[in-house]
Amino acid sequence: MTVPALTAETRWRCTLCGNLTRFDVTRTARVVEYLHFDLAGDSKVEETEVLAETVESVRCRWCNAVDQVELVDRPGAEAEAAEQA
Ligand SMILES: [Zn+2]
Repeated sequence: MTVPALTAETRWRCTLCGNLTRFDVTRTARVVEYLHFDLAGDSKVEETEVLAETVESVRCRWCNAVDQVELVDRPGAEAEAAEQA
């Protein structure tokens, strides 16, 4: 089972336990980071540009199910759609 991609109107829901809020997400990303070093040599990332990103797996923090998520509407998504119609 693959992980469905999130959109502005949807969120993940664990199909086994109904969890909506807590997931461990394994992702690969290709990013450009602007590192700002201080005089001591410690660095901070001040800007991040994501060039490409893939979600590999999503594990539910409640029941540990892996990749058992479905897309459901976010609260208010239906109301907004009705307003725009
Ligand atoms: Zn779950």
